[in-house]
Amino acid sequence: MECATCKKPATLACSGCKGATVLEGDAPSVHYCNAGCQKANWTQHKATCRRLQDRIVLYSVVEMAQRLFYVNRELTWIYLDIEKVEKTSDRMETTWPADYRVFPSQLVSSKEDKNSILVFLACIEGYMWTVEFVEGMLKGIVTTSTHVVYKTKNDKLRTRCYSMTTPIEEIVRDTGGITHEMLKVTLRSGEVFAVDITGAQYGYNEPVTPWTKYQNDRILFQYPESGQPAPRPYRLLQVNDYSLQKLIYFCKKMAGDKTAEEAIPFVFAGTLKAMNLRILGWQGNEKLSLRDMWKLPEKTLRVKLNDLIDFVEWSFHGIVQYPWSTVNGKRLATENKHSWVYGKK
Ligand SMILES: [Zn+2]
Ligand SMILES: [Zn+2]
Repeated sequence: MECATCKKPATLACSGCKGATVLEGDAPSVHYCNAGCQKANWTQHKATCRRLQDRIVLYSVVEMAQRLFYVNRELTWIYLDIEKVEKTSDRMETTWPADYRVFPSQLVSSKEDKNSILVFLACIEGYMWTVEFVEGMLKGIVTTSTHVVYKTKNDKLRTRCYSMTTPIEEIVRDTGGITHEMLKVTLRSGEVFAVDITGAQYGYNEPVTPWTKYQNDRILFQYPESGQPAPRPYRLLQVNDYSLQKLIYFCKKMAGDKTAEEAIPFVFAGTLKAMNLRILGWQGNEKLSLRDMWKLPEKTLRVKLNDLIDFVEWSFHGIVQYPWSTVNGKRLATENKHSWVYGKK
């Protein structure tokens, strides 16, 4: 590594943009031999640094949104039960009878496989979730966000379900692509990204991808309804009775007449309520609001995000109150009414 200013050997990386995901076409990351050289180069580096910082925040927030989504799906795995999972190189087949039961972590061999089942047919829910996070946490850095509905191509994996009704079988068929939904965001730096937290059902686990790459690799064609601005937030992150009602209404509308799926709005709102509680705590104790989270240094942001995820997982046991709740795939057993311990596998 040579110093960006004096070209001598350098070991100090700029702390502002260190850790940004490196993308095709990026200039090599800057290093300095001392603080003086860094200062001398700041005018030149400033724009790049700000652009990379925005990128770091986008990746962290979306990664958190995805992790929380997985947590939410697993802890609320009450509307579909999997009996069997069979996986070949590009296909995962599952059989789901109608009973409610715990997510069967023991049937899947990797975290990736598990995630593909957790988000199977969950792209609308995932999209709503993402809008909420992007609107709530990235307001300062995302300038536009649009809804994208498209037909997939190059699926690395097809997650399929065998005991569901005809309409589902029609959606998940062997030939042609599958209809999928996600969010496209433009940052104030001009960089454009695809934000897709439910891509694991097609074998794509990364939640953020540069838009051009995503478009080339994954989109067969976009539907005409694509390209609309993302709806102004459902405001789940600032849950109050009104927005909760709105959410319940929306989820019920999505779920149609299926009684089992009526459980979704309750638990979906539960996650957000738990998050909201934690964030309100931050606001009170540390004067940290959700809106300002993205301004935190990367390390602090990461600590906060992990804290939030832990809190949501923990809170869920109070909300769901089923003896078979799992955390990170580990089954929990009740010790007494209000405490949980990790059970033996
Ligand atoms: Zn130098
Ligand atoms: Zn920098």
